[in-house]
Amino acid sequence: MEKLALNGGYPVRAGKIYYGRQWIEEDDIEAVAEVLRSSFITCGPKVEEMERTLEAYTGAKYAVAVSNGTAALHCACLAAGIGPGDEVITTPLTFAASANCILYCGAKPVFADVCPDTYNIDPDSIRAHITDRTKAVIAVDFSGQAVSHKEIREICEKFNLIFIEDAAHGIGTKYDGAPIGSLADLTTFSFHPVKTITGGEGGAVLTNREELYRKLVLAHTHGITHSEALMEEAPHEGPWYYEQIALGYNYRITDFQAALIVSQMKKLDRFVSGRKEIVTKYEEAFSNMPEIILQKEIPESDTCRHLYLIRLNLEKLRCSRREFFDAMAGENVQCQIHYVPVYWFPYYRKLGYELGLCPRAEEIYKGIMSIPLYPAMTDQDVSDVIHAVKKVVENYRR
Ligand SMILES: *Cc1c(COP(=O)(O)O)cnc(C)c1O
Repeated sequence: MEKLALNGGYPVRAGKIYYGRQWIEEDDIEAVAEVLRSSFITCGPKVEEMERTLEAYTGAKYAVAVSNGTAALHCACLAAGIGPGDEVITTPLTFAASANCILYCGAKPVFADVCPDTYNIDPDSIRAHITDRTKAVIAVDFSGQAVSHKEIREICEKFNLIFIEDAAHGIGTKYDGAPIGSLADLTTFSFHPVKTITGGEGGAVLTNREELYRKLVLAHTHGITHSEALMEEAPHEGPWYYEQIALGYNYRITDFQAALIVSQMKKLDRFVSGRKEIVTKYEEAFSNMPEIILQKEIPESDTCRHLYLIRLNLEKLRCSRREFFDAMAGENVQCQIHYVPVYWFPYYRKLGYELGLCPRAEEIYKGIMSIPLYPAMTDQDVSDVIHAVKKVVENYRR
């Protein structure tokens, strides 16, 4: 048995590898530089090109580009009309922004539990948490796998709820053959560097519904309109005139970020197949290891994985998750945990949320670990990661 680096052995690789990272090539750099040499570095033609590109890729009727994925969620909540007194159902197994956006609107996040093997929000648990105050559902394509659209759509229609999909992990995934982005009432993307494509920062909201689109446009530019058709006091005084008709924010994205995202969108299909190839290798390597539990897929999801999670079967190991994590770091494979259940954070606890609210999410959290997954990984990187997992398992096997 190979000695763990943690105990004085040799690490499986010399340089650290992290769970995710961007892939920027020369043409991406050129696309950004071109904008910097032009007249418009914000509010220019690249933002519109980004929106049209996202519409073409997803099949959604409307896309609105914004400054980041959190702004996208906030705009989606504003467009959905979420406000004080409302409840919005979401998952605890997500980045905090999926729930924070509900608080931004003065509404109350209600956490539904997740499915025990897919880790996505459980439609039955959504149903169990509906009250006459429920206004919307924010479902997250956790780790890239599509949520159960058919069931969630049925619930939303029956109870007259807005279906918001936080697809920060979900770009490039399809549900029943349809690209994520075209399916929910509102879908949000993030273009943070660990996400499947990046603009440094960046985000977008997509919808098929014109009335929601109009609200999104206002929400991300101060509630100000230049369109005479929307103005309340037209005919106006002169060509300089614009009107603020709602309370909005400055959530605009710059033209050079939009140019980077447009350039990256051209590579999305390549990134998707790169991720899928690595996932296939991981599944082959880990599927017959009783110490590792793999995430299950619903048959409708053709998944572009954003995160690859292994879940430790701690009954079969003589170590804690923390020891496993540290041993992996010792082998120079830096993992990450996605995610601490949102309501465990002190901020949420002070709002009155208690431990034990979603037992399945909490149980899953205790064993999960995200191992490196990004398309720029070399074959050697992938086999190093597999080697490290096997080596650590062997050392701690019961
Ligand atoms: C990254 C992420 C966000 C926030 O996106 P930013 O662009 O970082 O603001 C929201 N939800 C989930 C699930 C995310 O992973």
